[in-house]
Amino acid sequence: MLVLGIETSCDETGVALYDTQQGLLGHTLHSQINMHRDYGGVVPELASRDHIRQVLPLIAQLFEQTKTSLHAIDAIAYTQGPGLAGALLTGASIGNALAFAHNIPALPIHHLEGHLLSPLLSDPAPTFPFAALLVSGGHTQLMRVTDIGQYELLGETVDDAAGEAFDKTAKLLGLDYPGGSLLAELATQGQPKRFKLPRPMLHSHDLNFSFSGLKTAAALLINKQEMDAQTRADVALAFEEAITDVLVKKSVTALKTTGLQQLVVAGGVGANSRLRQKLQHQLVDTAVTVFFPELEFCTDNGAMIALAGALRLQQLNTLPPPANGSFTVKARWNLADL
Ligand code: ATP
Ligand code: MG
Ligand code: FE
Repeated sequence: MLVLGIETSCDETGVALYDTQQGLLGHTLHSQINMHRDYGGVVPELASRDHIRQVLPLIAQLFEQTKTSLHAIDAIAYTQGPGLAGALLTGASIGNALAFAHNIPALPIHHLEGHLLSPLLSDPAPTFPFAALLVSGGHTQLMRVTDIGQYELLGETVDDAAGEAFDKTAKLLGLDYPGGSLLAELATQGQPKRFKLPRPMLHSHDLNFSFSGLKTAAALLINKQEMDAQTRADVALAFEEAITDVLVKKSVTALKTTGLQQLVVAGGVGANSRLRQKLQHQLVDTAVTVFFPELEFCTDNGAMIALAGALRLQQLNTLPPPANGSFTVKARWNLADL
């Protein structure tokens, strides 16, 4: 079965084709980052308008690339939430309209389910059950993933998400939006151990996180210092060391308490090489295998939505009814409610 996936939850327009036999056939992506950069963050109205401009040309490009057409598609998966309501509505309405016109089902997909399953696009892929560290711009969660659709929340951030903390600290360091990867790049020039920032909730005996205090501590440190180039790099490194220490420690605790032997790291912060290094290092002498998505599938993309739709279809014994033109989006939506 061939599934077209459409992702428009935030500032990336992504479309992809996933075949249940052959895997990912192709994907195309348009990032709006350059458009939002001047505002220091995503402007929702601009995001919706740009998705409207991009979705159909991207789908046409995808069909050309993969030498397929809409007639070959068995179902259309689209991101139903969580995300920006207007942005979600764009992908949902185009997905449902195309599905309605072609008399095929439209499959509403949870954006975080897409992130969680994204390591299944790689080879070797994890097998169920596994633990997942979901670290993105809006979420920081540890989950137990028993099967498609069976997600148990083990712990999550009580305030800022890890990506948000990266971006806010990057902004304090004068870096462009979104600054996570720029901060990581700057940190490679930092001198180890010049500064030490707090590791919030490291010993909290649960699997929750808190990052707003870390960002405040970084802000205080930045205000106290003469911020020359070396000092900026040193603060970036101190921040990256603190946040990755907490993410690694809690992930290891989650593996110990659940007894799970595979860890999947998903979401944009999963692209962070220091986090990847530290996790590999911590788990090297254990039975645990760590899986990371390909870098291009860490941040938002259509491939993970097409994949989630295809896996959902495979799980059902019969094809769901064709789209009837009615649909909703969910700006807020807990993954554990699936
Ligand atoms: P959500 O999925 O929770 O709705 P989102 O889709 O905006 O949020 P993603 O696209 O998964 O989040 O990830 C974007 C985040 O990842 C940004 O905060 C970005 O700064 C961060 N990020 C990307 N690359 C890196 C990196 N190398 N190091 C640290 N953070 C990074
Ligand atoms: Mg994004
Ligand atoms: Fe995302």
